[in-house]
Amino acid sequence: MTQLAGFGVAAISVVRDDGKLEVMAVAGSDEARTQLAGTRTPVARLEREIEKADEWGLLRFVPHERLDESAGDTWGWVPDITPLAHEDAWHPLDLLIAPLYDERGRLRGTLAMDLPEDGRRPGLGQRQLLQRYAEQAGRAVITALEREDLAHRVRLAEAAREVVRHASAQLRIDGILGDIRDALMAGFQARGLWIQTLDEDGQGTGAVYAADGGEVALTGELTRIAEAAARRAWDGQWVEIVQRGRPFGPSISTEEGERILAFLDGIGVDSLLFAPLGAGPECLGNLVLTRAHGDPEWSSVESDAALDIGRDLGRVILNARTFEREHQLVEELQALDTYKSQLIATVSHELKNPLTAIMGHLEMLDASPDLTGTTRSSLAAMERGTTRMVRVVEDLLLLSKVGDPNNPVIPAPVDLRRIIDEVVDLTSVAASRKGITLLVDAPREQVCTVGDREELDRVVANLVSNAVKYTPDHGHVTVRLATCGDEILLTCTDDGLGISAEDQDHLFAEFFRSTNPEAHAQPGTGLGLAIVLRIVQRHGGRIEVESELGRGSTFRVLLPAAPG
Ligand code: ADP
Repeated sequence: MTQLAGFGVAAISVVRDDGKLEVMAVAGSDEARTQLAGTRTPVARLEREIEKADEWGLLRFVPHERLDESAGDTWGWVPDITPLAHEDAWHPLDLLIAPLYDERGRLRGTLAMDLPEDGRRPGLGQRQLLQRYAEQAGRAVITALEREDLAHRVRLAEAAREVVRHASAQLRIDGILGDIRDALMAGFQARGLWIQTLDEDGQGTGAVYAADGGEVALTGELTRIAEAAARRAWDGQWVEIVQRGRPFGPSISTEEGERILAFLDGIGVDSLLFAPLGAGPECLGNLVLTRAHGDPEWSSVESDAALDIGRDLGRVILNARTFEREHQLVEELQALDTYKSQLIATVSHELKNPLTAIMGHLEMLDASPDLTGTTRSSLAAMERGTTRMVRVVEDLLLLSKVGDPNNPVIPAPVDLRRIIDEVVDLTSVAASRKGITLLVDAPREQVCTVGDREELDRVVANLVSNAVKYTPDHGHVTVRLATCGDEILLTCTDDGLGISAEDQDHLFAEFFRSTNPEAHAQPGTGLGLAIVLRIVQRHGGRIEVESELGRGSTFRVLLPAAPG
């Protein structure tokens, strides 16, 4: 254009988000390029000049005599030439410019010419040529701006997507920040970023997480300013830009802004974008993105994106907090559980020895020949009570043993078929006393699992003795054993009292005894099934119940079959 239209200098500027025209390209003169490229002039300033211009189609011409007095100081480059002594001579302060508008009539940029080679203001022919260049320049600028804008939106959208994606993948705040850091820095073309979270009680200031995992040394005063600003910004859904020479937004007072600027000067940051983080009505912190001197201005598209990301991050923080709270709760519960187990183990242990002594003495007294009838019946009652206490203490000791993670199963092959035979043998006396038919349906050969023989014996014994205990006279109890693939299925079925659906929910809890009065009338500790469950679980198996009140129950135990 400089060559064909005969001008010494041509410059293209675009309108930036902050309402300034930025010189993007300068052709023709190196001196002009050095001086002009990147300079910014308020659009309003240009508009005031254009009001006084002659309209030459798309072009506007303001002869120097109409320009503001001060135009020369602020208007960038003034060529060092002496005007010709001619009535249409070009003056160094003459302004020839084509404002470039988009389809919606918004000013998007300008094309400016200076220094005609013939030293004259352009004549009609030259103006027509310039008009065509202006049209082309307009299209080019708008296309370039749109492409730039689009690329930017894509980057921001990617950053936002990254935040949302990591919201579900990561549960700790520092981990999340590490994951989204690159996306945010690239998306926002930022030099640095940090996040401040507010304390859960909404008082004081929470942690400051730097993008590189390092510390951000914000002074106490600054964190307080940031916290207060974040709350105001979240309420108003504002994003703030802090930069020298730019008015502070509604969330930041002038005094606060000055302190922030002083801090930024100290760490070599030119500007920052400040977005509140929150969820619902609650402000949870803030996100700060920084830029250095010479970086582009923060745009309104970026502000909007930062606000969106602030909302996404707010939800992420809320999730992270819930996770941390739950984590803490689980730890506390685990500690409590360990304490409980230790207490039970200690108390049972301490009770065992005196109880054994009492039992021994009761037996001795029982054998004594000179006892009266009342003493004898008192002794019998004491013995019954003590027997019951011994059973509870033994069950408690076993429960704490099989529930102790520091006491793992020492694995050895165990033949379940043999265990069933022995248990049925032992229980048959009690069964026949009630006229109960006790059947076994199992293969002749061994059916082996891997585990602790004594513990597995206890599983079978508890299930079979329960079945006999909770089945009325003349009922039936069947124990079945079968191998299904790599599992062994042990079933104990009875046609006894059955268990209500509500009771089934609590069956395996310690000390649970049925709400059914008929079942409750039987002696028991409520620990048998709790022990069974723990043993089955620590052998890598599971247990299921199927029962109907008044019809009977089936307990099914699945255990891994021994390999080979
Ligand atoms: P206990 O038998 O010492 O009460 P358990 O833990 O073995 O304790 O059983 C818990 C409760 O489950 C029993 O009180 C009983 O009500 C019910 N229950 C267990 N097995 C059966 C069964 N085969 N039929 C009916 N109820 C049963």
